[in-house]
Amino acid sequence: MTKLLNAIRRTFGDAPYSEPTPHFHQGTSDSFPEVCFEGGCSRPHLHA
Ligand SMILES: [Zn+2]
Repeated sequence: MTKLLNAIRRTFGDAPYSEPTPHFHQGTSDSFPEVCFEGGCSRPHLHA
């Protein structure tokens, strides 16, 4: 795994790698918001 991590670090260079922040959308039901992991998602977010 260490080799893989090093390869990933090389790929991303010195820039800190940050995962997209998960956010929520209005689900099909008000009781179940839909979680989304897309960083560039353009759908309206659900604000708690
Ligand atoms: Zn989204």
